[in-house]
Amino acid sequence: MEIRFVGPLGKVTGSCTWMRDLVEGWNFLVDCGMQQGEYDEDTWNAGTRWPFDPLELKFVVLTHAHIDHSGLLPLLYRLGFDGEVWCSEETARIAQILLRDAARLPGSRYDEPDVDRIRWRTPGGKTQLGGYHRLDQDLLMRFFRSGHIVGATSVTILWGKPKSGGQKSIVFSGDVGPGAEDREVLPFLRYPQNPAPATYAVLESTYGGVVRVAKGERNPEARRERLSRLLDRILETGGTLAIPAFSVGRTQDLMFDLHMVVANDPVRYRAIRFYMDSPTAMQVNGITLDALNRTQTDARTGKVRPVWLGKQLFRDLGLQCHEPEHVDLVLEVSRMTLSIDRAEGDLAAACGNTIATRWRSIFTPVGNREALVREVTKGPRVVVMSSGSGDGGPAASWLPLVVRDKRNIVAMSGYCGKGTIGNALSALESVPLDQRRLQAGSLTWRSPDGGTGSSVPLSDVQAQVCHLEGYSAHADQSDLVDWMFENHKGILKQSIAPTIFLQHGDDEQRGSLARALAKRADEWNLEVDVLLPDDASQWFDLDRGGASLRVAEKRKALEAQIASLQNALAKLKAA
Ligand SMILES: [Zn+2]
Ligand SMILES: [Zn+2]
Repeated sequence: MEIRFVGPLGKVTGSCTWMRDLVEGWNFLVDCGMQQGEYDEDTWNAGTRWPFDPLELKFVVLTHAHIDHSGLLPLLYRLGFDGEVWCSEETARIAQILLRDAARLPGSRYDEPDVDRIRWRTPGGKTQLGGYHRLDQDLLMRFFRSGHIVGATSVTILWGKPKSGGQKSIVFSGDVGPGAEDREVLPFLRYPQNPAPATYAVLESTYGGVVRVAKGERNPEARRERLSRLLDRILETGGTLAIPAFSVGRTQDLMFDLHMVVANDPVRYRAIRFYMDSPTAMQVNGITLDALNRTQTDARTGKVRPVWLGKQLFRDLGLQCHEPEHVDLVLEVSRMTLSIDRAEGDLAAACGNTIATRWRSIFTPVGNREALVREVTKGPRVVVMSSGSGDGGPAASWLPLVVRDKRNIVAMSGYCGKGTIGNALSALESVPLDQRRLQAGSLTWRSPDGGTGSSVPLSDVQAQVCHLEGYSAHADQSDLVDWMFENHKGILKQSIAPTIFLQHGDDEQRGSLARALAKRADEWNLEVDVLLPDDASQWFDLDRGGASLRVAEKRKALEAQIASLQNALAKLKAA
């Protein structure tokens, strides 16, 4: 078996790893994602720079639904691929929604019928997580929850004959979420699992150099405290708090936190109206609720455990995750939180803490958007809207009016790349109102047909701008190290794999993570080899393994030596 890291090396988007075994005839991808905001994304996203032939691929394994991992699947089919896409059921459902949205974007390289051609394969039922799924003779696959978004998994591929001791395996982390068992950070999602040990691991490194604990970003209390201060402010001004949010994960987490803040002091926040304006997020809410209800029986202990529902919710509501009655209550609270327009007075049952007993649905859908948008200073109002970067979707209607009035607040809730509205707005966060008038440039939104929409000069932006910290769905450095090194009750301390490839992160983050992994291995007296592949055309032979994996590195070092010797020789000759 050979592996080739087609992407992303030294960057974050465009996840795609190619695996093949010429003898066995295996040829497949793990993820086939779109590049977003990279300087050379055009040729990649058009399929003209792919080193593999879509016609020859047998199948694709998908770690999760995000577009930078799934976004080019429809193009793969359009260019002749006819195999199946293996993933969790939730990933298939969410990916279909996101891919349909992507197909409708102006300039898309594929259309909705291409999305319909995807042959989803969602193995599982009771063994969805941890179970072995057969891809081919002597080729197996396992999923483990990665705690990043609903449906997101780490994936292990196993090949060779198990009985003869010839079986090898590689685990792909996918995107790993924050926190760990009993230390979940996000409200709904269960912690990232440590996958079973493998011969190799491929680990993401998006925030491989970031330690969040130091910055207090993973404290749910602090996160909600910041939100309540924003609500206090619009109570005073009667303005609108606009929160652009990504439809998967971020919107659901924000809805939960807003409910929690209100349940903590219902009288105080009685006057605020809450709106949800994101058709995509409404669909994802439904999938999330289905997912939270799913359970699986542990093959080893026989205990029934939720597949995706985390324990943070129980802690927040003062409930016990082992009490069946409390589980029902938590699921009911989730329904009240994520369903729009439930009957008023829909109170949770009489157990748990005071917050649980005061919980009620607070969100209503946006009926007549035009009319509501015209009244952005007739609040107090909170609107959670798509898109997360503020460029398109309902945000393109709301923000041009919201930003002009100092009674309003725009709170960005996620990472916004260069060139986005969110990025330009964030730059104003620290500029005092009296100096805004001096700002050059303007904010320009997209119209739904891809043309130019509304435009507001930066000098007219009067709304307060801020960024909501603490909602990241990504592991930080310590989480990634904990994912890689399993500490089972202090008895069993092991590395998930002796050889680790780092990808999905810029070189600073990768380098920092490599050092942190080496340090942990040292502390635990483990032999671990960390590789940072940097050549997208290089094949690594996983059956030979060991020193052969470093051939390219050695070749590069030798070439550098030769070049410097030739240089020295040329200088001598010239002298
Ligand atoms: Zn992701
Ligand atoms: Zn990713």
